[in-house]
Amino acid sequence: MDDLAALTAALRDASPREILAAALERFGGDLVIAFSGAEDVLLVEYAHQLGRPYRVLSVDTGRLHPETYRFFAAVEARYEIRVEVAFPEAAAVEALVRRKGLFSFLEDGHSECCAIRKVEPLRRHLAGVRAWVTGQRRDQSLGTRTEVAVVERDPVFRGKDGAALLKFNPLAGETSASIWELIRALELPYNALHDRGMVSIGCEPCTRAILPGQHEREGRWWWELAGSKECGLHAGNIARHGDGEPR
Ligand code: SF4
Repeated sequence: MDDLAALTAALRDASPREILAAALERFGGDLVIAFSGAEDVLLVEYAHQLGRPYRVLSVDTGRLHPETYRFFAAVEARYEIRVEVAFPEAAAVEALVRRKGLFSFLEDGHSECCAIRKVEPLRRHLAGVRAWVTGQRRDQSLGTRTEVAVVERDPVFRGKDGAALLKFNPLAGETSASIWELIRALELPYNALHDRGMVSIGCEPCTRAILPGQHEREGRWWWELAGSKECGLHAGNIARHGDGEPR
């Protein structure tokens, strides 16, 4: 049994907190918790409860909502941490905007903009660690996230020294309802945009409120086909479904 298979077996019946504890115990400072500014605040809460040092990483694409920046600050204040913010390469953003304007994604899809503003900075930062933790859940997208594993070898990014990167998804088996129950019960801070009907929160031009009964991913890149709704951070989800190469 290889290392990943052993870990998978060990974590099969583990709770999200136990999964995070195992990840932190194994990788310590060589692990970052990705924080998007949405319900994944629960991961920060769990890390805090565990009482051991942890790192939190966010990507600032330059197009986030003002509410999301304020939420980052509220989380920093509550947990007395500094969120490590990854920024895109200024020259690449400038070149894209000069060439195609500020809203090219509405014309030819979000892949190019996401690759520059989101995927590249994340790739650069993940190249300095051996593992990361995400808030991905299977119920987030019927099209692309139905196979999210609790722990997997990252199919998109490489870690320190070019080695394989492990990706933990402690919330994989949770539901939106169970996460919100906890956020409310623990009185955690949350992004004010949730009170305005936004569920899955990303960049301002690419996020909108959904109607009752709509799936949460319908509030993201709504002008594109359902099968392409990953930003590149979790592109393995699309590749697994045969919808195309990671992007
Ligand atoms: S979500 Fe939209 S604005 Fe943000 S990086 Fe992707 S395409 Fe660009």
